[in-house]
Amino acid sequence: ILVPFVGLLLAFWFYSGKEDFKPEMLQGKRVIVTGASTGIGEQMAYHLARMGSHILITARTEAKLQKVVTRCLELGAASASYMNGSMEDMGFAQHVVKKAEELWGSLDMLILNHVTAANFRFFNSDIEHVQKILNVNFLSYVAMAVAALPMLKNSEGSIVVVSSLAGKIGFPFVVPYATAKFALDGFFSSLRQELVMQNTNISITLCILGLINTDTAMKATSGVFSSFTAAPKEECALEIIKGGALRQREVYYAYSTVKIPLLFRDWFPELLDYIIRMKYDVGKLKGN
Ligand code: NDP
Repeated sequence: ILVPFVGLLLAFWFYSGKEDFKPEMLQGKRVIVTGASTGIGEQMAYHLARMGSHILITARTEAKLQKVVTRCLELGAASASYMNGSMEDMGFAQHVVKKAEELWGSLDMLILNHVTAANFRFFNSDIEHVQKILNVNFLSYVAMAVAALPMLKNSEGSIVVVSSLAGKIGFPFVVPYATAKFALDGFFSSLRQELVMQNTNISITLCILGLINTDTAMKATSGVFSSFTAAPKEECALEIIKGGALRQREVYYAYSTVKIPLLFRDWFPELLDYIIRMKYDVGKLKGN
């Protein structure tokens, strides 16, 4: 009887000291969002615009970025600009941070979200493909974070890293993608420790997402999963921003679809692997 009671008391004590999210927390803040021409990144740009932030967005497709910037200004962004280029190029990744410095002289939040589109398929031993995915989905995140550290130190700002359940649990058919997502956890969780040890007040929030209804994800997974429901990208985008503003260590979205498999991973890993394999319709894989 005592154990759950003490657990409840501890949980109450832990959460009672936590601040609630208010949109004003982002008002006037200077925020970079990568991969914001579509999907979750685009929705984050719109939420930040409504909250009155200064926004700098990136992706490769200029025409889409222009549209997102126009919409952000209509929604009330304090300012909105874009830079188009590929995150395969580390010089471009660093240049985006430089542009923020030129525009604002500082930075409050760096949201790393971009990802190169990947097909679901068996790993075909293509090392060059793994390298490309690691460059875009991992190394460019590192390059941008490193370039932003001096500004974030001064502003006591935040780094928000958008990851996936596939960055915590092994999933089939996404080997290079999962490799990059696991690498993000390793790099940013270790960096968080060092920042604390150096008394540097920069928060790092790692976002663990389940399936979200973006066009890319819906196209890539169509027919492949036997039963997974996709959560809404608008709500997902808001939860990521809230987690960053509240300086949370990790964000789980959608909570139960992500948290329950993570509990299974630690206690019943073989059973979890089996359940995951059962969720795929292998016959429907493209290029299989
Ligand atoms: P989208 O495919 O909708 O958006 C990806 C963004 O990245 C686009 O703006 C795209 O624009 C940009 N991008 C792609 N390749 C490059 C490149 N080489 N250089 C620069 N920018 C690039 O992705 P989602 O919104 O679905 O995903 C967003 C994040 O959420 C990702 O980190 C993803 O891993 C994570 N996530 C998503 C899930 C989902 O189910 N949707 C599940 C779990 C995690 P452009 O093509 O113009 O460059």
